[in-house]
Amino acid sequence: MPSSDIIQLLPDSIANQIAAGEVVQRPASVVKELMENAIDAKATQVQVILREAGRTLIQVIDNGTGMSETDARMSFERHATSKIRQSEDLFRIRTMGFRGEALASIAAVAQVELRTRREENEIGTLIRIDGSDIKTQEPVACPKGTNFSIRNLFFNVPARRNFLKSNSVEMRHVLDEFQRVALANPEVGFTLHHNDTEVFNLLPVKLVKRIIDIYGKSYREQLAFCQEDTSYIKVRGYIGKPEFARKTRGEQFFFVNDRFIKHNYMHHAVISAFDGTIPEGSHPFYVLFIDIDPSHIDINIHPTKTEIKFDDERSVYAIIMAAVKKAVGVYNLSQSIDFEE
Ligand code: ADP
Ligand code: MG
Repeated sequence: MPSSDIIQLLPDSIANQIAAGEVVQRPASVVKELMENAIDAKATQVQVILREAGRTLIQVIDNGTGMSETDARMSFERHATSKIRQSEDLFRIRTMGFRGEALASIAAVAQVELRTRREENEIGTLIRIDGSDIKTQEPVACPKGTNFSIRNLFFNVPARRNFLKSNSVEMRHVLDEFQRVALANPEVGFTLHHNDTEVFNLLPVKLVKRIIDIYGKSYREQLAFCQEDTSYIKVRGYIGKPEFARKTRGEQFFFVNDRFIKHNYMHHAVISAFDGTIPEGSHPFYVLFIDIDPSHIDINIHPTKTEIKFDDERSVYAIIMAAVKKAVGVYNLSQSIDFEE
C-alpha cells in the first residue's frame, strides 16, 4: 500500500518564528528595524525608550505618517510592505525597508503593542499581539505617528533569550545601531532613554554637528570635509585627521543611500588614501555618504541589509580613494579644517 504524502505548509506563526531568527538577533536588531521604519515614515522626531537593555521593553515613538486601521493590522503580516509593489521596484529602493519582514518577525518572538494614527484620522488604532496571536484591536486616542512597545523579547524562544549577553554588552549593540541611524539622519531629532536615564537627546542639526553631538566636542578640531562628485557616485562626509587615528576600530561609517553598510573593500580604499600618514594597524575616523543610483547596487544580499554589491566596485574604490586623498591632502597643506556647514 502506498504511504500517504507527508509535506505540509507551515502555519504563518511558525514561518515567522523561523524568519525571526535571521532578522531579530538581539534587542539592537529591534531598535534598528523600528528606527528605520520611523525614518521611512518621514518622522522628524524619534524617541527610543529601553528597559534592561531592551530585554523587557523597547519602545520607539515617532511623529511620522502613522497607519490606517487596516494597514496597522497588515503591517504584521509577512512580506507585507508599502515600500515596493513590483520586481522593478527592487532596483529603485530609496527606503530603509522593503522586505516586509521585520514586524512579522518581531511579533513572532515578543509581546507587541502598537498605537498609530494618521493626521487625517481623528482616532487611532491600538493592536496587541503576543507571539503572532492578535489579542486586541481597537480604536484609541493617540498623537499622530506611531508608537511601538516590544516587551519581553524572545519570551517564547528560551534558547535565544539565554544566548543574550550582559546588559552592558546588549546596550553597546543598541548604541551602535542608534548612533548609525542618528548619523545617517542628522536633520531628524532623536532621544534615547535607558531605565529612566537620558542617554542621548539629539536635536535636528547638520552632519558635522551631529558627529560632535554624538562623539564629543574634541572631534570638532579633528574633522576634514570630504567630497567628490562623479556621474557614477557622489561621496560626501568627514574624515578624522591622521593624528586622530585610533588603535581600535568602530568609528568608521559608510552609508550608501543613507543606509549603514559594512564593506571591507571600500574600507581598504580609505585606508590606502591615508597612505603612510597613519601608523600601520591604526584606524582613521570616517563618516562617508555615498549616493548612487539604486539600479547600480544590490542590497538584497542579507536580511539585515548591512551588505551591498556595486555593479562597478573598482570605480567605487577609486572614487572613494580620490575623495579621501584630497581631504587628507588639503588638511596637510593648510592645517585648517574645511567645514561644509
Ligand atoms: P518594511 O519596512 O520592509 O516595509 P516592516 O515589517 O518593517 O517592513 O513594516 C511593514 C510596513 O508597516 C511598512 O512597509 C510600513 O507601511 C508600515 N510601518 C511600519 N512601521 C511604521 C511606522 N513607524 N510608521 C508608519 N508605518 C509603518
Ligand atoms: Mg521595516
